[in-house]
Amino acid sequence: MKNNRLIIVSYRLPFSFDSANGSTTVKASSGGLVTAMKSLDFRESAEKPVWVGCADFSRRTWEKYKHLLNDDFEYIPVFLDRKIQQDFYNGFSNSVLWPLFHYFTTYVDYQEKDFVAYQKANEAVSETVSQLLKPKDIVWVHDYHFMGLPKLIREKQPDATIGFFLHIPFPSYEIIRILPQKCKDYLLTGLLGADLIGFHTNDYNIHFLQSVQINLGVQHKIWKINYHDRLIQSDSFPVGINYSLYHDAYDHPDVVEERAALKSAYNGNKIIFSVDRLDYTKGVMQRLDALEAFFRKYPEWTEKLTFILVVVPSRDEIQKYGERKQMIEQAVGRINGKYGTLIWRPIVYRYGSVSFPQLVALYTACDVALITPIRDGMNLVAKEFVASRKDHQGVLILSEMTGAANEMSTALHINPFDENEVADKMRLALEMEPEEQARRIAIMQRRLREYDVKKWATSFVESLLTMRNTQQIEP
Ligand code: UDP
Repeated sequence: MKNNRLIIVSYRLPFSFDSANGSTTVKASSGGLVTAMKSLDFRESAEKPVWVGCADFSRRTWEKYKHLLNDDFEYIPVFLDRKIQQDFYNGFSNSVLWPLFHYFTTYVDYQEKDFVAYQKANEAVSETVSQLLKPKDIVWVHDYHFMGLPKLIREKQPDATIGFFLHIPFPSYEIIRILPQKCKDYLLTGLLGADLIGFHTNDYNIHFLQSVQINLGVQHKIWKINYHDRLIQSDSFPVGINYSLYHDAYDHPDVVEERAALKSAYNGNKIIFSVDRLDYTKGVMQRLDALEAFFRKYPEWTEKLTFILVVVPSRDEIQKYGERKQMIEQAVGRINGKYGTLIWRPIVYRYGSVSFPQLVALYTACDVALITPIRDGMNLVAKEFVASRKDHQGVLILSEMTGAANEMSTALHINPFDENEVADKMRLALEMEPEEQARRIAIMQRRLREYDVKKWATSFVESLLTMRNTQQIEP
């Protein structure tokens, strides 16, 4: 790995230009992908790793301010035509692939022009990558926006080393078959341009292999596919988090201060906490139904419990997301009106993002983290919550529909549709003895510490290089 240059491709570049207060500055993103990519050891490569992504700024802004970017990566923005960008991102990516791959089949809004834009966007990015590509480079393509890309790059550079990782679920073939045939062919053959295809879980991997078998008639053997005389590996690599960042933040002065403020504001009440992007996959309505069932079943908790619900704005140009906000806010108002008293509100609701110290303060001030997605490729919030509990306290209630549930065996698992089960698990969590909380947290922490984000990124790239070596031995 040390002698290879890495080319990362993701929809977003890991920074934005901020032009508030009359001057322009660069804001670095702090997401999991950035941490993962920075943790890879490419120090002995003669050149900086390159990050290719779609620009959310104008060419003019880029030319004027690119000098502000001075870090470990070289960034290459791809400027798409506005309409193509819109149809590619809001259209095919987020109104077809996102709902479909999360099993929300009735939310799929397929339009031919969006699929055309998706192909054009993949084509434009493949042009950029191919122009950069040199022997020994490793291309790592991320996520559902670029499922066509591995094949397009391979057509231009047959010897390229290409990895692809899908950050969302890969659904069962019965779901994939809903797509028009030309889309299925494009997406599946697109992925088969890679040397290594990675998923969060074994189930997603099996679903993919079945789709390839049924749709393309291509067989697989021990996670290997022989396609057009090339050997391709398909495997699971559950993404981890930056464990020490969250664990060590427990003692950070800003976090300590925020936590103390939260504890005193809720005045000895137990706190249940959740945070997610505003997305229909996250099961926020089911969570609110369960909270209502909880207060109905266990009225003795009146005035003794506060549910802090943080919803982070997301994809607000898409109608299904705007509608969801209204539904959540109506339900919060109704539950607060019905179960609240003159001196207490059951739900404290915030629509907006929180800072890192606030987030960790919430993770560590709460008694229970309530995570109820209907489908989620992984769910990093669950992992971050557990990692941040240096005090070994707190209980994780986690939907069995998340990728994270596979790894977090001592969470209280729930089916988000079963409001009575969730309500009962909430009570169990709120009344759990501190020793039992500590036992459960410690088991999950051990796993998260060992399989952190660095391990994830390194093992993916190492498997990719091993695959390339195998191909050269058995052509
Ligand atoms: N997060 C954030 N801003 C916030 C609150 C949370 O960026 O105001 C982060 C959180 O720390 C986590 C990510 O958003 O890393 C959510 O990841 P997850 O896998 O749970 O869900 P996704 O949004 O990727 O579907």
